[in-house]
Order: sequence, then structure tokens, then C-alpha cells
Amino acid sequence: MEVVDYYQVLAALAVLFTVLERLWPRIPAQRLFRNGWFSDAAYIVFNSKYSGILIGYFTIRWIGTLNAALPRPLLSAVPHWVQFTVLLVTVDLMKWMIHNLLHRVPWLWEFHKVHHSIVEMDWIGDWRFHWVETMFYNSLLYVPVYCLGIPGEIGLAVGIVDTIGGHFAHANLKWRIAWLKYIFNSPEMHLWHHNHPDCGPVNRNFGLTLSVWDWLFGTAYVPGHDPERLGFDGVEQYPEQLPGQWLAPLLGLVRGRR
Ligand SMILES: [Zn+2]
Ligand SMILES: [Zn+2]
Repeated sequence: MEVVDYYQVLAALAVLFTVLERLWPRIPAQRLFRNGWFSDAAYIVFNSKYSGILIGYFTIRWIGTLNAALPRPLLSAVPHWVQFTVLLVTVDLMKWMIHNLLHRVPWLWEFHKVHHSIVEMDWIGDWRFHWVETMFYNSLLYVPVYCLGIPGEIGLAVGIVDTIGGHFAHANLKWRIAWLKYIFNSPEMHLWHHNHPDCGPVNRNFGLTLSVWDWLFGTAYVPGHDPERLGFDGVEQYPEQLPGQWLAPLLGLVRGRR
């Protein structure tokens, strides 16, 4: 798959999830162009694999200098479906661990708060991330690609599946996925990752594409109804547009140091 195809896939997914949200909305009254929609659309430019590919390029160059210390590329000769599965599971577990850190380390939480400033959930909210956070996630994606000898196209295919999983988990969809919730993330679970502390426990459901890690490590929370409110303490005062959201973590760090 060429890189340019990936952008066509992103466009197709945007149309698909917009249509699905119109057909089976969880909250029918939620407007298509809700507050912050255009700002979230602008995030696609910075947070999609546009930036990820650049970050990956520099990460691989950096790793190249450490080449002698790395294991031999273990998976360069196995079938593509094995490479795909190993990479999907490995990257998802790494992201689950990083996501935990983003919530538990105070200065990382300042950056991750940008994503948790979503108060009306839909597929496009999946793109609302501070660029510092994107660097963490994407550079780590490329480390196993390089170390395991997995071709870049397989990495891109995993990126597409992760994008579908992320859009689905954030979508304003009333779908339930029954027993598949023990394997895959879903709106039902991810809403309880974004809930306001007023209406339920926090630091649950860290899964991104797969939910299996939360079930395994005891952080799954699925009470059978949706939270009344999303966000965090003080979300009402948080900036609604991209420039303010990029600045907010830095200002938070400065305030925290005083
Ligand atoms: Zn989070
Ligand atoms: Zn989210």
C-alpha cells in the first residue's frame, strides 16, 4: 500500500463514520458540527500518519545508530498475516501501557487532558491529541517495525486498523458488540474512559484498539449504562480550539512549578 492510499482511506472512514452516526446515533440530538468540530478536523493534519510517518523516519534513523545492540530482525521471513497480528498486538499493548502513564504521571496528564477535554463524543474526537502525545505513540509504533524486521506496509495496515478501532470507540453510536467487548474496544467501554469524575470511577478502560488488556489487568469497567457527563474537573474553563489546547499543557506545567 502506498502512503497516498492511506489518505484516501482516512477520507473514506470520515464519510463512513459520519453516515453511521447519522443512522444509529447514541445521542440523536448531538449536532454534526458540534462545538470544537472544526478544531478537531484540523487535528487530522497534525495527528494522522502525516506526522507519524515523519516521526517514524527520524526514529528509525535514530535506532539505526544503535543497530549493533538490537536483536536480529526476527519476523522478516514469516507470512504477512503473522507479521500483522504480532505487530497489532505488540503495539496495542505498548500503547495501553503508555496510556496508563499518560493518566498517572502528572506532567504527561497535562498533555493528555487535551484529549479528555471532549465533552460531546464522536468519531472525529478520536483525532484530538496534543502533538507531544502523538510523538510518544507513533515513535513507539516504529520501534517494533524496525526491530522485528516487519515491512513498512504492514505497519501502515496496522495503522489503518487502529484508526478504524479508534474512530469506532469514539463514535456517537449506540451499537453494542456483545462478547466481542472482551477483545475489542467499543463506544460502551471508551465512554467510561472519558467520564467526568463526578459520575463514576476514573483511570479505567485504557484500551485503544483491543480491550483485552483491561480485562486481563483489572482496569475494565462496563456498568451497563452510559456516563451522564464527560471530561474532568475544570473542563468548562478548558480551551475549545486547537491553539489554546496546544498551549494549555505548557501553561499547566508552568503553573504547576510555581
Ligand atoms: Zn485517556
Ligand atoms: Zn478517547
